[in-house]
Amino acid sequence: MKLEIQNLKKNYGSKQALKGISAVLTDGVYGLLGPNGAGKSTMMNILTGNLAATDGRILLDGKDTRTLGKQFRSMLGYMPQQQTFYPSFTAEEFLYYMASLHGMTKAQAKERSAWVLERVALTDVRKKTVRSFSGGMRQRLLLAQAILSDPDILILDEPTAGLDPKQRIAVRNLISEISLRKIVLISTHVVSDIEHIAKELILLSEGEILCQKRPEELVQSLSGRVWQSELPEEMLPLPEKYGMVCGLAKGVSGVRVRLIAEEKPPIDCVPAAPSLEDVYLHHFGELNQL
Ligand code: ADP
Repeated sequence: MKLEIQNLKKNYGSKQALKGISAVLTDGVYGLLGPNGAGKSTMMNILTGNLAATDGRILLDGKDTRTLGKQFRSMLGYMPQQQTFYPSFTAEEFLYYMASLHGMTKAQAKERSAWVLERVALTDVRKKTVRSFSGGMRQRLLLAQAILSDPDILILDEPTAGLDPKQRIAVRNLISEISLRKIVLISTHVVSDIEHIAKELILLSEGEILCQKRPEELVQSLSGRVWQSELPEEMLPLPEKYGMVCGLAKGVSGVRVRLIAEEKPPIDCVPAAPSLEDVYLHHFGELNQL
């Protein structure tokens, strides 16, 4: 399968949310990384057909997805960002309802719902109403409905938001496990969620794709530019003069500072191995005004 995004643009009035983005996705997991307002949800909503693009097109194996229409939509699973959804439904009723929208028979709905509920650890609470669910439980139910029909293309908008670390890992493993022979696009702020499962990362900033690369390539791109130092607290403002501070922690005898700088800063420091967090901060740190 090949999903081609060609010169996609979206304007909201005078606001250009997507400025002509292009990307090619094949089977595998893709991480969509970018700060708030970068255009991630807009891109995902256009991909899923919930929003019309101002310009550009999306092709699946060479065919325009607008022409494919229902056929394309039936191949999609979409997990939107959390919102109030069917509060008076039980988890099971909600999934049966979603199954009926997918055109499943009652028997299929029962079997698939039981499977996804088990996978997101909600079997025990399947008879409880969504209203009574915590944020993390709602999030897992949203993921469950996205994978209910075993879709070929899975679009997940911040799937781990609101989950505790254990649930994060479980969700990450589940996504990794079900992603064989699927195109999976995941937006997240949490680099560690996709670092080890993504084939490629797409860095989106202010409606433009900065790059689409393998995680290792991105990390490699910062090689020789990350530095580590332990300084007395009173010297703290100093490293900012030489680069971007991407980490601060209490050390044994002072403060441990991690710094991204083109050249070795004139302070007592040693080279450090770059991480994907560093890459994220390198591209988005200033925009985020941490
Ligand atoms: P992200 O998901 O990366 O946070 P969004 O796609 O939600 O980004 O938003 C991209 C930009 O478009 C932001 O500047 C946002 O304020 C703007 N935007 C999003 N939705 C609307 C809308 N319905 N009307 C006007 N502006 C919008």
